[in-house]
Amino acid sequence: MSVSSTEQQLLVFIMLLTGVSTIAWLILSRLMRIAPVASLRFSAANMLLFVGVAMLFLRQVDSSLLFWLGADLLALLAFVALKAGFLALFKHPSAIKTDLGLLLLWSILALQVPDNAKEHWLGLLFSAFAFISLASSTTILYQASANSFKKRYAAAVAAPLAGISLLFLLRFLTSLFIEQQDTPVVHQGKSELYWAYLVFVLLVNITIFSSTLVRLVAKIRHLADRDQLTGLYNRFALNRKLMQLQHLHMRHQQPYAILLFDLDHFKRINDRFGHLAGDKALKHAANLLSSNIRSEDVLGRFGGEEFLLLLPMTERPMAEQVAAKLLAVLHQHPLQLNDNTLQLTSSIGIAVAGLENPAASSEVLLQQADQALYQAKDNGRDQINTYTAPTDTGLKTTIS
Ligand code: GH3
Ligand code: MG
Ligand code: MG
Repeated sequence: MSVSSTEQQLLVFIMLLTGVSTIAWLILSRLMRIAPVASLRFSAANMLLFVGVAMLFLRQVDSSLLFWLGADLLALLAFVALKAGFLALFKHPSAIKTDLGLLLLWSILALQVPDNAKEHWLGLLFSAFAFISLASSTTILYQASANSFKKRYAAAVAAPLAGISLLFLLRFLTSLFIEQQDTPVVHQGKSELYWAYLVFVLLVNITIFSSTLVRLVAKIRHLADRDQLTGLYNRFALNRKLMQLQHLHMRHQQPYAILLFDLDHFKRINDRFGHLAGDKALKHAANLLSSNIRSEDVLGRFGGEEFLLLLPMTERPMAEQVAAKLLAVLHQHPLQLNDNTLQLTSSIGIAVAGLENPAASSEVLLQQADQALYQAKDNGRDQINTYTAPTDTGLKTTIS
């Protein structure tokens, strides 16, 4: 059969696009070491699409089952590689065994297809598998992007892939309700198919590119916001979160509390056990505190051996309860350093922006927490102290 010059041009263009993308993702993976595992899988997906389109062309010349199955199988393998790439990019566990198992099932079913209606049945099977595979990639991509960006941006990143998945679903549903053909289809022009393939390859590569950007930006943000030693928020990020809470407090009268921790006699730990042991103790305290707070609370390292905990929607009694609980947690989990058991304690200064004490600014609230902390140290350490506005009776509460 003859192949028109438009088809030939489209074919060359698709092969160029997939070929260049294969090499580009390979360079990113091997030479530049940017998301190496994911990029290698994206390169493999493009290579499979490259060979897949060659098979697609060959099945116009020779419509034996080998080329029918070959072209479909390669495209489906490309979808599996694509999903494996997204999983690696966003540090999710691999699902390759399940996906290859599904593909094996697809191959078994595809081999049962009667020869006189293979276009109908293979189209149906292909669309079903393509939808399942691409829809699950879309979900992974959307959820991972929504973790770091606003939902509407995550939706924009996942939209092209979602669109393609829906098209496959539509194709599946329409061919399900269209009468099965009894006679083999005579192939005329296939330029629509090549156009579809071209748009598909373009959209897939745009999606891969934007998802890699999402990952890189999320990583940069994470590095900029985190303290290297403990992995908690750093002071820069804490200030930003504090401003957000203060904004809600001023605008909607939402209360919030801040707890300033300062580990007691920490210098002694360094002096007695060395700086590395001091670092271990800081990580130990950070882990204990972070694993005993609510997900909406914000914990960060404020300075050397000082931590700041921000509690949204929290008034004084609850803030004091949280602080007492965290002091107890430190007591219950001493650090084991070789043969030594190290009991960490902390003093905690609390300030609450709420009904009792409407805060003028986050700086003022921090000063109040610092003042309360100083008082807790003065009172003998290993205790909490809540700032009380001077208009009150002037008494400050101390709980040991
Ligand atoms: P206090 O009970 O009055 O708070 O006594 P302290 O010894 O904890 O307070 P001080 O401010 O005198 O000492 C803080 C110590 O924390 C000194 C500093 O070496 C140590 N420190 C600060 N950052 C780090 C760190 O990243 N690693 C280690 N190992 N030690 C640190
Ligand atoms: Mg200190
Ligand atoms: Mg200290």
